[in-house]
Amino acid sequence: MTNELRRYYSELRDKNRRIHEKRVAECEQKSARLRSLLSEPGLVFQQVALGKLTAAAAKSRIGAIAAERRNLLISLGYAGNYLDPIYTCPICKDTGEVGEPSRLCTCALKKQQEQLLAGSRINDRETFANFSDAIYPDDDQKKQGLGMKRFCERYVAALPKPEKPNLLIVGQSGLGKSFFSNAIGYAAIEKGIRTVKTTAYQCIQDILSGIDAREDAIAPFLSAGLLVLDDLGTEAMVPNVTVETFFRILNERAAAQLPTVLVSNLDRDGLFERYGERVASRMIDGALTSIVLLRGSNLRTRMR
Ligand SMILES: [Zn+2]
Repeated sequence: MTNELRRYYSELRDKNRRIHEKRVAECEQKSARLRSLLSEPGLVFQQVALGKLTAAAAKSRIGAIAAERRNLLISLGYAGNYLDPIYTCPICKDTGEVGEPSRLCTCALKKQQEQLLAGSRINDRETFANFSDAIYPDDDQKKQGLGMKRFCERYVAALPKPEKPNLLIVGQSGLGKSFFSNAIGYAAIEKGIRTVKTTAYQCIQDILSGIDAREDAIAPFLSAGLLVLDDLGTEAMVPNVTVETFFRILNERAAAQLPTVLVSNLDRDGLFERYGERVASRMIDGALTSIVLLRGSNLRTRMR
């Protein structure tokens, strides 16, 4: 369980405990009998500990107290379980874990996904589940799209350690490159992988803002469990910044064996021309990178 998730459950338990305490105080105000009923179980346990009451007698006494408390609450206009402990998730009792050995509760998986999605710039619309081959204009392009989907799903299945950590998706605008890269990111988050998606434009803007604020804004791009770098070629070419940033990202992520998805309209020559030998040769390095080329007619224009 991540620290962020642990903190969430700790705060959730505190919140529910405070609500419960407020309910108890409120009911004690309303009924003196209820107040003594709430303290009686403690006295019963004390008597058991002192040997003055058998376990069986204690059990029946506790049952009677609970029944009287329930009836009293109902007569006061409350639900019978108004003073029971409050759990947002009764399955894990707000611990986030179930079973032995413990695993994440369904509520924790959902919360983890929300938390990962929140900082990721991944959207929940462009996903494999929302993929439709009806968008393709002809059989060739449909075949290519379905092949691409299968390929991307295999890549995701192999995360966090695909045989080749990097995936380079190239092709003209409007062939679904961004869709697939987002879908990969979303599926990675479903696997609990901390994913960051950015356009190359936004990435360089972040770095430049960081320089203005005297902060090194590159850290999230270096440390993400999966980085999706979309739209390479749309960023500002700032001397001593753009090429150096991509070099550092590619180099340090490769050294840490972290997977990266790169997306661009540029072909091989275009990448070399724009980023130079040192960066482009890393982008297309066959030992580290699977390269997928999408062809066909623009899907966006066709949909209009
Ligand atoms: Zn739960």
